[in-house]
Amino acid sequence: MMQDNPEISLVIPIYNEEETLPELFLRLTELLERLDTSVEIILVNDGSRDKSYELMVEYHNRDPRFKVVHFARNFGHQVAITAGMDLAGGRAIITMDADLQDPPEVIEQMIEKWREGYEMVYAVRKKREGETLFKKVTANLFYRILRRMTQVDIPVDVGDFRLIDRKAMNAFNSMREKNRFIRGMFSWVGFKQTAVYYERAPRFAGETKYPLSKMIKLASDAVISFSNIPLQLSLIIGFLVSSLAFLSGVAAIVVKLAGVYTVRGWTSTVVVLSFLGGVQLMVLGMMGLYVARIHEEVKNRPLYIVSDLHGWSGSNSPSSISRAFIWHQDQPDPRR
Ligand code: UDP
Ligand code: MG
Repeated sequence: MMQDNPEISLVIPIYNEEETLPELFLRLTELLERLDTSVEIILVNDGSRDKSYELMVEYHNRDPRFKVVHFARNFGHQVAITAGMDLAGGRAIITMDADLQDPPEVIEQMIEKWREGYEMVYAVRKKREGETLFKKVTANLFYRILRRMTQVDIPVDVGDFRLIDRKAMNAFNSMREKNRFIRGMFSWVGFKQTAVYYERAPRFAGETKYPLSKMIKLASDAVISFSNIPLQLSLIIGFLVSSLAFLSGVAAIVVKLAGVYTVRGWTSTVVVLSFLGGVQLMVLGMMGLYVARIHEEVKNRPLYIVSDLHGWSGSNSPSSISRAFIWHQDQPDPRR
């Protein structure tokens, strides 16, 4: 039997969140009661190693509006969001974090804006509570530097808490790049956008699932996918250094012709040589970053591997997923 698509899809990536899930489900259920429209909630289990998956399935069994996508391993926050968006059937899709830093109550304001005709509503953080000074400072710097470096207009202090209209969603879904910086990609897509403001609450429980290494990966994805400035910078540095080398060459010849030849100059030779070596390595490394990303794209692997789905079955099963991703479509899931 064909099931009608809901009006709103909520997409939530989840990685080791067993401590927050009960509270999240509670707040979401309250929200569902207040919203007088049809809603599906897509929980993407991004390879959690704790009880998160069991809790999600339990919730799905209790309330079928909760659906579960189970990844074969941890693919990262940005990819988890992507999978949820691929599977979403709603006319508006909302992405939010599981840790209640994005209060579910803001969703009502987003839907209001959407009904006014906006095709993308992003939530801007007015205040960040309960985050370390280090996180605040690095995040602040990152957004501002990125803004200067890129050609697309990426709004400052916007995370991955946003509403997307179906039209913009389809446009976004056509972008299958591997190194994903989703907020930048949404700015690139365009459409009629607006903001709602909110105060970012502290994480409800547990600790951040974004260690420094993941933050660096996200930041470099952002810069490299949206900017060629590092490459241009290498070019400029190369140019400056070779101009200097040319000048010193001229100076050396002049000194020689003038007959003031001395054997001194060993220090300057070593300094110049090592400086040049350093610059070359740096430029090579910079280019390596781009080459590595090209390599990732060329391999053209699927973005993620789904191991199980709960909540999609029969004619209701998503056509999008069989198109681009591997999963056991012809092996029925016994738990379904
Ligand atoms: N997350 C995920 N995969 C990861 C890391 C994080 O799905 O590899 C989820 C996490 O469960 C949470 C959201 O992404 O719902 C944001 O993560 P977190 O709150 O730890 O990031 P922060 O708010 O500290 O930047
Ligand atoms: Mg968080």
